[in-house]
Amino acid sequence: MFDPYSILRPNILNLIPYSSARDEYSGANAIFIDANENPFDSGMNRYPDPYQIKLRQKVARVKKVLPEQLFLGNGSDEAIDLLIRAFCEPRVDNIVAMKPSYGMYKVCADINNVEFREALLTDQYQLDNQAMLDLVDSSTKMIFLCSPNNPTSNSLNRDDIIYLLEQFKGIVVVDEAYIDFSIRRGILERLNDYPNLVVLQTFSKAWGLAGIRLGMAFASKQIIEVLNKIKYPYNINVLTQKTALEILEKEAEKELQVDSIIRERITLIRELNRLDLVKEILPSDANFLMIRVPEARKIYQYLIDKNIIVRDRSKVPLCEGCLRITVGTPEENETLIKALAEYRY
Ligand SMILES: *Cc1c(COP(=O)(O)O)cnc(C)c1O
Repeated sequence: MFDPYSILRPNILNLIPYSSARDEYSGANAIFIDANENPFDSGMNRYPDPYQIKLRQKVARVKKVLPEQLFLGNGSDEAIDLLIRAFCEPRVDNIVAMKPSYGMYKVCADINNVEFREALLTDQYQLDNQAMLDLVDSSTKMIFLCSPNNPTSNSLNRDDIIYLLEQFKGIVVVDEAYIDFSIRRGILERLNDYPNLVVLQTFSKAWGLAGIRLGMAFASKQIIEVLNKIKYPYNINVLTQKTALEILEKEAEKELQVDSIIRERITLIRELNRLDLVKEILPSDANFLMIRVPEARKIYQYLIDKNIIVRDRSKVPLCEGCLRITVGTPEENETLIKALAEYRY
């Protein structure tokens, strides 16, 4: 049975965490003169709940996990950084990841001076499990996967993810930032079966809250305890906790928006396919499309001149000549199609 403490960095294992005033006493209706706050009530004069008890209970209910299996971070990016800091000894340990994928994994590894090894996806943008495992050695602490993947937009085969979870004796992180846009079920429902699984999700995409910076990590109670032990005490601010609690009351509204984005994705694919300059659209399970075009850089510049900003991914391995386009509102998508239709070589 996988024990996260067996691969934890010794300094983290031995860490005595900062104990905040709110850790030591957190009741209500008392006179709080323990944290050097300004006593005049503005709704924001108090430090936030360091463990986000209310918010975590609510998110846990929506996601059908226990609150103890959930970590909330300042974006998923915080969870990525904390996982690396907790488990990877700088200049000793390494991380294995798939390529191409989300750029933050490597940036966080580089910042922490942790070697980052990448195995190319197959030509169908799927995991090459053998290539991944070939990169693993006794110092590999973590594998990073992303499904649906950014930037290739497709979902990974579930069997491949399960295979890595079963073969690899370290932590497998599966980033599901785009899972709400997918027809697949995702891997979160298997959380209790795999003590080495960490699932990342976010409020930045489907929930429409990129501005409040709130990310989720789901894992075993032991792994979540480690993340909570090393995070900054007040990592989720009062405004973010409040806004998230409000939005979680409106899950139906989020579902409607997701449905609309998925319908719009279908329309956009149909319209793009009618354009000569679009050579290929990668199969998408996300809220964006990868389109392959001739002279990608020129078209990217042309669109900027028309005040339309897409992401140039044309130099990314397996994505040569591709532009990444987020599904916008119907009006935005129409403007994009019109501009592309007017492009002259
Ligand atoms: C957008 C995105 C995220 C979200 O990061 P946040 O820090 O939560 O905003 C995470 N992973 C991937 C692959 C993404 O594309």
